[in-house]
Amino acid sequence: MRIPDDAPETCPACDADYDSVSVHDAGLLVNLLDNERYRRVCFEPVAGADGEPLVAFYHHTHGQVGADD
Ligand SMILES: [Zn+2]
Repeated sequence: MRIPDDAPETCPACDADYDSVSVHDAGLLVNLLDNERYRRVCFEPVAGADGEPLVAFYHHTHGQVGADD
């Protein structure tokens, strides 16, 4: 996954470090119950280049949210 050039340094929803960002214009399923890499995904509404509504997904690993402590 890529991180957009204008992405913030920390997650805008929870302020934690994140591993990657993905931007979506349609609904999708997120299941992290059995995900070995990611523990949490936060969602932030953003505007696309033409002002279209999008949602940015911030992916946090287990270590970034303290799940390994
Ligand atoms: Zn977050």
